Amino acid sequence: MKVVIVGGGMVGAGAAVSLAKQGYEVTVIEAGKAVSSGGDWDLRISSIHLRNVEWLHELGTWLNIRAERKLMYTDLAVQTVDGQRLQFSNLDADAIALGAMVENNALQEALWEQFSEHNIRVYSETRVETFDLADRSVTLSNGEKLSYDLLLGADGAQSQVAFAAHIGQRGWDYDMRCLLAIAEVEQPIPATTWEIFRSEGPFALLPLSTHQACLIDYRSESQWQEFSGNSDAVKQSLNEVFEPHIGQHTVTKFASFPLRRQRALRYISHDSVALIGDAAHSIHPLAGQGVNLGFADVQELTRQLVKQPLPQALVNYERVRMQENQQMMRAMDAIHVGFRSQHLLPRGLVAFGLALVGKVAPLKQALVRKAIGF
Ligand SMILES: Cc1cc2nc3c(=O)[nH]c(=O)nc-3n(C[C@H](O)[C@H](O)[C@H](O)COP(=O)(O)OP(=O)(O)OC[C@H]3O[C@@H](n4cnc5c(N)ncnc54)[C@H](O)[C@@H]3O)c2cc1C
Repeated sequence: MKVVIVGGGMVGAGAAVSLAKQGYEVTVIEAGKAVSSGGDWDLRISSIHLRNVEWLHELGTWLNIRAERKLMYTDLAVQTVDGQRLQFSNLDADAIALGAMVENNALQEALWEQFSEHNIRVYSETRVETFDLADRSVTLSNGEKLSYDLLLGADGAQSQVAFAAHIGQRGWDYDMRCLLAIAEVEQPIPATTWEIFRSEGPFALLPLSTHQACLIDYRSESQWQEFSGNSDAVKQSLNEVFEPHIGQHTVTKFASFPLRRQRALRYISHDSVALIGDAAHSIHPLAGQGVNLGFADVQELTRQLVKQPLPQALVNYERVRMQENQQMMRAMDAIHVGFRSQHLLPRGLVAFGLALVGKVAPLKQALVRKAIGF
C-alpha cells in the first residue's frame, strides 16, 4: 500500500516510521526544512508520557534522540493558589518513570534519521500544489505527481489536507498566551514537573537537567500586551513568579504562543484520507497532551490498517480516536475553567477533587496511570 503523508512534524514523522515498519511504501512531504537539534535547548519542548516513550523505544527512535535533549521525570505535582497540593510519583503508577521531557526538534530529528533505514521517501521544502482525491493523487510544488492509496494529513492546525478534503474545523481562541522560557537555575532541581493554578491561568516548570528548566506561564492576551515587547519586563515578571519556587535563576530565552482549541469534524474522507495529530485536534497544552494524542492516533491507525481493508480500518480509526481525543479536550476545558474560576462552586469542586484523589489510593493510581497513557 502506498501512503503519502503531508507534514513531517513529530506526528507525521512518527506515522511514517510506524507504517514503513509494517511494510507500507511511505512518502513524506514537508513544507519546511529538515530540523536539526543543536546548541542550547529549543523552547519547544514536550512532555511525552511513559506509554509513548515505550512506543518510541519500540519504533527504534528513543535511543537516537540526543541524550542531552531528553530527561525522564519521576514526579508530577499540581497545586492550587490556596496551597492545596497533590503529588504523583512513578511509585503510584508502579512504573520506572512518569514520562520524559524531550525537545521537539530532537525528537523530530531522530525520527527523520530513521527514514533512510526504512526506505521512506521525503520531500522537504515542498508543498502539495493540487489534490485529486478522486484519482488518489497529488501534484507537488516541484511538478511531480504522486499516487497513493492512503493520504495522511499530519500538517498541523492549518491543515491543507483537511481543507482539500472538505473536512470542516471547529474551534476558538482561548484569548491566552503561553509564555515559554529556558532558565539556568542556581540550586539543583529534582526530576519533578509541577504546575500551580492561579485564577489568571497556571504556571509550570518542566525540568530539563539538574540546573536547567523550561518555565511556562499562561497569560491573558491583554496582560501580554502590557509588556509591549519589553524583554526586561518579561524576564522580571517571570522572576517574580518563579523565584519563590526555584530560587535564583537566569532566563536565557523566551517566546510566547497564542492558544487555540480546534477539532476536525471528521478524521477521514473519500475512503482514502485521514487526519492525524494537530490536523485533527489541537488542545490546550496545560496538561501536555497534544503530541501524546497525536502519537496515540498513529498507534491506533497502524493497528487498524494491519488487520483489515483500508475503508473499514479508517472508519474504526475515526471512531476510536475521535471519542478519546474529544474526551481529553473536554477534560482540559474543565480544568482550564475549574481552576481559573473565582466562583465558589467550581473552586470547591477542584479542592474537593484534589483532596479526594490524595486520600483514595486506588483513585490516585488510576488517575496517574491514565496520565501516563495506560
Ligand atoms: C506552548 C505549547 C506547549 C506544548 N507542550 C506539549 C507537551 O508538553 N506535550 C505534548 O504532548 N504536547 C504539547 N504541545 C502540543 C504539541 O506541540 C503539538 O500537539 C504537536 O506539535 C503536534 O504535532 P503535529 O506533527 O501534529 O503538528 P505540527 O507540529 O504542527 O507539525 C506539522 C508539520 O507539517 C508541516 N506542514 C504544515 N503545512 C504543510 C503543508 N501544507 N505541506 C507540507 N507540510 C506542511 C509543518 O511545517 C510541520 O512540520 C504543546 C503545544 C504548545 C503550543
